[in-house]
Amino acid sequence: MKNRQSTLIGFELDRLMRLVTENISSNRALAESAFDTAWNLAVHSNQKVPKGLRMLKCKRCGYITYPGVSVEVRLKSGLCVWKCSRCGYLKRFRYK
Ligand SMILES: [Zn+2]
Repeated sequence: MKNRQSTLIGFELDRLMRLVTENISSNRALAESAFDTAWNLAVHSNQKVPKGLRMLKCKRCGYITYPGVSVEVRLKSGLCVWKCSRCGYLKRFRYK
């Protein structure tokens, strides 16, 4: 039963993630609402928050960071640097 429940939650998280990425540039309010719903679902169902969802949230201000919309992307010696357009927080990760 628990396995089926976690599978259903996984499907719902995938659907909400698609909703966020498809509407981030056209319908910001819908994307933020779907993001909050997905985040709360993942946190309250005792599952690990998916990496795709974690990548989209700014650690300082909680804003949705999406390349080309609300984040500035720079590549620097093997590192990808994302700069949040709201607070200027820098997120660095390897891309190799
Ligand atoms: Zn930020």
